[in-house]
Amino acid sequence: VLTLQQVYKSYGSHAVLRGVDLTVLQGEALFIIGPSGGGKSTLLRCINFLERPEAGSITFLNQKLCQHYRSHFEIAPEKQLRQARARMPMVFQQFNLFSHQTTLENVMEALLTVKKLHKDQAVILARHALDRVQMLQKQNNYPHQLSGGQKQRVAIARALAMEPPVILFDEPTSALDPELVSGVQSIIRDLSAQGLTLLTVTHDQAFVQSTAHKVCFYADGHIVESGPPEQIYNTPRTERVRQFVHSVS
Ligand code: ATP
Ligand code: MG
Repeated sequence: VLTLQQVYKSYGSHAVLRGVDLTVLQGEALFIIGPSGGGKSTLLRCINFLERPEAGSITFLNQKLCQHYRSHFEIAPEKQLRQARARMPMVFQQFNLFSHQTTLENVMEALLTVKKLHKDQAVILARHALDRVQMLQKQNNYPHQLSGGQKQRVAIARALAMEPPVILFDEPTSALDPELVSGVQSIIRDLSAQGLTLLTVTHDQAFVQSTAHKVCFYADGHIVESGPPEQIYNTPRTERVRQFVHSVS
């Protein structure tokens, strides 16, 4: 569903992404791991054009979102980028809920403003999404009345309500109290079991090993090695991955 070829991005003179190649297959739970500060969040933000990549090509659902054409770098029109973004919503470490809106209103928001659904229809879809993450009973609560784990489940419902082919997760459990982590992880695991395509950045190696179909080790601006979790954690092919796995386990 998603292919990146030689994607580049820098901030000023700081080259962050330096030729990222990545393929995400339909139904796959793909996890990106790697050292802090290397550019994993930047990579996710370039994939859905919260940041603009500078070179390379990104193909999503058979549409070119950016590409090289006769030595020019072309980015698709904003309208097409917005559509693509709605089909790969992102769930953030810090939840990013609207604090002045209830749980239900948070989940309805993009259905009304992006999908332009009628309110009655948005309510039905939002309630269904909240039910999938076991948060329907909190539909009238405001974010400050929820625990971190509950907030993150609302954020996941907000993404799910868009019925997207892919969801991007950027460290979805690293802001949570330890006792709340496994509940959110098991919801993500269930979504994967239901066939949703996931692209997840995390530092939680146990989560990766319990959920990933494929693991990509990202460092120094590119994917160094990728493979099934057994390969990455037990029989890595590169010294870089061997050292990393050793240091975090
Ligand atoms: P972590 O594992 O700590 O979340 P990361 O791999 O997600 O790190 P990024 O957040 O993508 O790393 O940041 C990569 C580099 O780009 C860092 O050096 C960071 O300081 C820099 N950077 C990120 N966003 C910006 C920005 N908007 N402007 C300038 N520099 C930035
Ligand atoms: Mg990050």
